[in-house]
Amino acid sequence: MRSQESLQSIIQNFNEVEKGLSNREAVEESNRCLYCYDAPCIQACPTGIDIPTFIKKIASGNLKGSAETIMSSNPVGASCSRVCPTDELCEGACVLNHSTKPIMIGDLQRYATDWAIQNEQVLFEKGKANGKKVAIVGGGPAGLSAARELARFGYDVTIFEAEKQAGGLNTYGIVSFRLPQAISFWEVEQVKSLDVKIKTNVRIGEDILP
Ligand code: SF4
Repeated sequence: MRSQESLQSIIQNFNEVEKGLSNREAVEESNRCLYCYDAPCIQACPTGIDIPTFIKKIASGNLKGSAETIMSSNPVGASCSRVCPTDELCEGACVLNHSTKPIMIGDLQRYATDWAIQNEQVLFEKGKANGKKVAIVGGGPAGLSAARELARFGYDVTIFEAEKQAGGLNTYGIVSFRLPQAISFWEVEQVKSLDVKIKTNVRIGEDILP
């Protein structure tokens, strides 16, 4: 039975529980991937991340390229690497389930995106301005994704977010020992780096009438 003191420490400490892969673990695991033709792991990913490509980029030491591959398909790919039910999705579909054990796709995705976070990488650039403006209501994963893609096409984008911070579920809906808010905030910053404006504490229909 836990002592009162250790219980107190758990109550007070909501730091992330899972440790990421070490460099050696990531290289070894990435080299197990078979780079399957018509990879079933991609088919099983709701965001269609090119999983074998990002894994092979880890194996070859191209960690920025790996993070770009992940985040180009999924602008909240760092958060998803921590909270996706991978055993039911990509890892559940991995062909290696039939022989040894599936590739640790979620952990490798976290490894690449953690590298980008720790090395303060900006992964995408805005497109040439096309003179058109777009307003997006809601700064959660869907709004951020739409904003980033539109900015890459050259649109001048403003997100209106009712909460104090953008990020939606990833910022407010998941316990910090599974998904620290800092990960969600990094994804928000990636979108802002394309000059997307995010107006928080603004509720459409109340603060701004349509
Ligand atoms: S199914 Fe498994 S082995 Fe094949 S590409 Fe995907 S992760 Fe690699």
